[in-house]
Amino acid sequence: MITFSQVTKTFGDDQPALEDISFHIEPSELAVVTGPSGSGKTTIVKLLTKEYLPSAGEIVFDQRPLSEVPPGLVHHHRRQIGVAFQDYRLLDDLNVWENVALALSIISKPVDEIERRVTDLLDLVKLTDKAMLFPKQLSGGEAQRVAIARALSTGPKLIIADEPTGNLDVDTSKSIATLLTKINSLGTTVLITTHDPVILDELAGYKHLELKNGQLVKGASQPPSPAAPPEDSADVQPTKSDQPAKSAKSAKSDKQHETDQADTEQTTTDQTDQPDTSNSGSGSLIGKLSKLLSKSADNLAGDTNDDAVNDPEPPTKGSSSSQHSNRAKKPTKTTKQKS
Ligand code: ADP
Ligand code: MG
Repeated sequence: MITFSQVTKTFGDDQPALEDISFHIEPSELAVVTGPSGSGKTTIVKLLTKEYLPSAGEIVFDQRPLSEVPPGLVHHHRRQIGVAFQDYRLLDDLNVWENVALALSIISKPVDEIERRVTDLLDLVKLTDKAMLFPKQLSGGEAQRVAIARALSTGPKLIIADEPTGNLDVDTSKSIATLLTKINSLGTTVLITTHDPVILDELAGYKHLELKNGQLVKGASQPPSPAAPPEDSADVQPTKSDQPAKSAKSAKSDKQHETDQADTEQTTTDQTDQPDTSNSGSGSLIGKLSKLLSKSADNLAGDTNDDAVNDPEPPTKGSSSSQHSNRAKKPTKTTKQKS
């Protein structure tokens, strides 16, 4: 799913934020990246989302080199990756339900599909009863669960949680780690960065990459050797980790996972449907969205920086049918705490 091959990232004349790192993460794998503050964890995340471009080396995501993703299609690439940040980055003016629905609304998913999906996601993160609350009314753990549900909303191939427990107490941190293993057990590739030993302990047995001063001191894969003769090629497997990481299935047996039926289908986000603004209870969301669209686009894209790739194109309109059933559970949106 992810291959970093001899990737270096430098900012100006500073010491490299990442230096010649190579690793591989399989589809449906859960990997934990640890390292002290400043060791390069977030830089890996931003390279994956193409907010940063590597100074050297190549990154392959889902079999495609990121260098081949043109600036005009970066938005499409980013839709395959859901990111949950340490500071949650929820929109204060939207309630829990609306925060999770936001990305789906932006890509014009039909309202019945949005309602079905948000219902399932809030069930997954156990926040159904808080759907009408606003971010300021949530605990840190609840806010992070909303951020994770939002990251999952468009059915990404990869979920990244960047220091998801940085602001949380030990028990809440453990519950977030458990939630992420559960999401992984349902088939999504998961990448977690942390400097929290509690999380690492909780995720013992999963793939572990350790950074120190921008260098990968644990979990590195062998870079390809251009000088290697063909008969030696069996020793050189740039796309394989040297460490047998647990797959979602094998790691799952170590932990007790719940078996809730969450909808983790891969939403084909490049096949957008016609906006459906029919009277389904989400009309106020659509209205808010038109006001918040520019703000939310910034929020979803994360930090901007000098290497950021512009993402000017709207989602591609596809031919996906709008034949969606109305079997969706209606959200229990009865009272609004704030209009
Ligand atoms: P971590 O997430 O492990 O705390 P980061 O990846 O954020 O570390 O940062 C690694 C190094 O790269 C740090 O020295 C940081 O100052 C530097 N760095 C990250 N982003 C930028 C940037 N946009 N400009 C300059 N330096 C940066
Ligand atoms: Mg960081």
